[in-house]
Amino acid sequence: MTAFGPIMPAFAKLADGIRRIVAPNPSMMTGPGTNTYLFGDDAVAVLDPGPADEGHIENIIEKSTGSIRWVVVTHTHPDHSPGATPLAKATGAELLGIVAPDGEHQDKTFMPDRTLADGDVLETSEFKLEAVHTPGHASNHLCYRHVGLNWLFTGDHVIDGSTVVIDPPDGNMKHYIESLQRCKDLRCDALAPGHGDVIHEPDRAIDWIIDHRLAREAKVVAALASNPNLTSHELVPFVYTDVDPKLYGWAERSLLAHLLKLESDGLATIVNERWTA
Ligand SMILES: [Zn+2]
Repeated sequence: MTAFGPIMPAFAKLADGIRRIVAPNPSMMTGPGTNTYLFGDDAVAVLDPGPADEGHIENIIEKSTGSIRWVVVTHTHPDHSPGATPLAKATGAELLGIVAPDGEHQDKTFMPDRTLADGDVLETSEFKLEAVHTPGHASNHLCYRHVGLNWLFTGDHVIDGSTVVIDPPDGNMKHYIESLQRCKDLRCDALAPGHGDVIHEPDRAIDWIIDHRLAREAKVVAALASNPNLTSHELVPFVYTDVDPKLYGWAERSLLAHLLKLESDGLATIVNERWTA
C-alpha cells in the first residue's frame, strides 16, 4: 500500500489490445491516480485521459501503437475528462461522452463531438465497447463493457479498495444503488475501475458496496431516531464514527445523499434544514 491505495505500475498491458496508464494525480480522493485505458493496437480508443497533464497526454500518444480514433470519457469530474479535449485536438480523434451537467466539480471544457447513450457501441475489427448508462456517482456517468472480454470498465461507479463520494444534487444515492444492481446483472467476468487495480470478483465487490451503503443508511436511520432535528452537518459525527474527521466535508455530501434517498423513500423529512425520521 502507498499513502493513496495499492501500488500500481505506471503502465500495464492487461490483455490482448488493452493497456492501462495511471495518470500522475495520486491523492486521497483519486487513490494511486486516474486509470487511462487504451483499446486496440490498430485504431485506438482512449478511455478517461484524466487531468489535462501535458506529460500524461504525450505518454498516451506514445503508448498508442495505432492512431487514436476515439477519446471517450466515463464522466466529467476533474480527475477524468479535462485531458480529453487536448488529446482529441492533438490527434484528430472524435470526442465521445455526455456533456457536463450544471454544478460544481464538473469539467465544463468537455464538449463531445458525439453524445453517447445507453447501448451505443464503438466497434473495430479488434474490439467492441458497449456504453452502459450508470447514473448515481454522476448523472452523466457511463460504464463501458468490452464485449469480447466481458469486462466492465467502471470509471468511478466502482473503484478498487474504497467507496466513492455521492455528491448531491448531481450525485444520487437511489440511482447509484440501482446502477450497481444493473452492473451486477450484466454478469461480467471482471471490473476495470477508474482508480486501482482490476477486480476479478465482480459480484463480491458489488455486493460489498451495496451492503456497505445499506449499512450506512441504517446508521443514518438510527442517528435520526436518537438525534432528531439536527442539520446534516450536525449529524455527520453520529453516522461516520469510523471516518477520519478530515474527511467530514465529503462525508456530509454522502450523508446528504442518504438523507435525500430516505426522503424519497418516505422515511425522513426536512424542515428548516433540520432532519427527522
Ligand atoms: Zn467522479
